[in-house]
Amino acid sequence: MIDELRDRARAVGERAEPLLAPLDEDKAARRALDLLAEAELVGWTVPERHGGAAKGDLAADDQVSVRALCALRDELAWHSGMLDVMFVMQGLGSYPLVLGGSDELCGAVLPDVARGRQVAAFAVTEPGAGSSLAEANLRAVEKDGRWRLNGTKTFISNAGIAGFYSVLARTSGEPGDGGKGSLTMFYVPATTQGLEVKRFEVMAPHPIGEVVFNDVEVPDAYRLGEVGNGLSIALGTLSRFRTSVAAAANGFARRALDESVAHLESRRQFGKPLSAFQGLRFDLAEMDARLRAAQLLTDEAANALDAGETATAEVARAKLTATETASWICDRAVQHKGGLGVKRGEVVERLFRDVRALRIYEGTSEVQKLILAKDVLERARDKAERESD
Ligand SMILES: Cc1cc2nc3c(=O)[nH]c(=O)nc-3n(C[C@H](O)[C@H](O)[C@H](O)COP(=O)(O)OP(=O)(O)OC[C@H]3O[C@@H](n4cnc5c(N)ncnc54)[C@H](O)[C@@H]3O)c2cc1C
Repeated sequence: MIDELRDRARAVGERAEPLLAPLDEDKAARRALDLLAEAELVGWTVPERHGGAAKGDLAADDQVSVRALCALRDELAWHSGMLDVMFVMQGLGSYPLVLGGSDELCGAVLPDVARGRQVAAFAVTEPGAGSSLAEANLRAVEKDGRWRLNGTKTFISNAGIAGFYSVLARTSGEPGDGGKGSLTMFYVPATTQGLEVKRFEVMAPHPIGEVVFNDVEVPDAYRLGEVGNGLSIALGTLSRFRTSVAAAANGFARRALDESVAHLESRRQFGKPLSAFQGLRFDLAEMDARLRAAQLLTDEAANALDAGETATAEVARAKLTATETASWICDRAVQHKGGLGVKRGEVVERLFRDVRALRIYEGTSEVQKLILAKDVLERARDKAERESD
């Protein structure tokens, strides 16, 4: 099934590349989602029980398959960063409903997400709360069965084109209290009065912006999970989808390596193809070996998650290694193309910009290192304790 999914993603990618390139950001985003929906790939971001694709042996009917997400993102990213981001945001934005939404809310929203008819967004980052999500301070106050939200979210993918936002809000306490018991998630339709979007641009095409909440009111039925359980829903969503960031990085890196090989074989300098020079051959060998290591770590994390393990260290290792490796590989590919490497419109110039944000979103490389270091120390201490018994 995974091979078939890869073939389908490749077919969409081949169609999408020339179609999306001339479009402006929002038109490209919508067209990308339409192409994914026509190919019935969006359903892989939503559990089967909620209207998503039937996942066979890959996942239980209340789950998304991380192996499938990874296979699809790897192929989509090879072709287009926009295709990749529009695919995964449907899952990231809607998974808080899977984890905490009522049956009624899930039934009303998720089948449309799975068909690409409703665009999803995940709104947790704030100007004052990035890596430290527990410091979120967008306030939600309850009165007579309705919640009133005030505050600002920033760096929200799909801001302005989303049909709804899954929003992490503070329902008690103060930033710095650790967030447990004091944050709650809400489903907020984009058309709700008081919600304002301020778009900005990042270095690669990506619909993104700030979302300001001015007395935005939602009914209690739009609360996702128990009051105070928001941080766990936000982190649960991220832990399901983070491994797929590694897979997207692998897709960008694979494309960069393909571009390097093609160029070094065809471009001649000093009377020979560039691929004849040992310095450049060593680069190709190192790009290949490091990419393969990243792919294996990604597979390890995806397999563990699909087997029901928490896999915290495996996921952090995969995300850290794959995104850092892909950045390095895309940089080498730019170097191999010489002046063409920085010329607008060249594939490697685009890859160099596309890949950069992956080291930042869904937990920066430094945050992944903090997670891994904690695991390394815990394992060492456990071992020392066992040996002293
Ligand atoms: C393209 C893009 C799309 C995004 N999409 C979304 C989205 O859809 N929804 C959403 O909610 N957010 C989104 N984000 C936000 C993203 O998740 C945050 O940018 C990220 O979590 C980092 O937060 P920050 O930018 O506030 O950086 P900060 O947390 O301020 O970090 C700044 C730097 O300090 C480092 N740092 C922080 N703390 C430590 C520490 N304890 N030890 C060592 N180093 C540390 C970081 O690693 C980083 O290098 C997106 C970001 C980008 C770039």
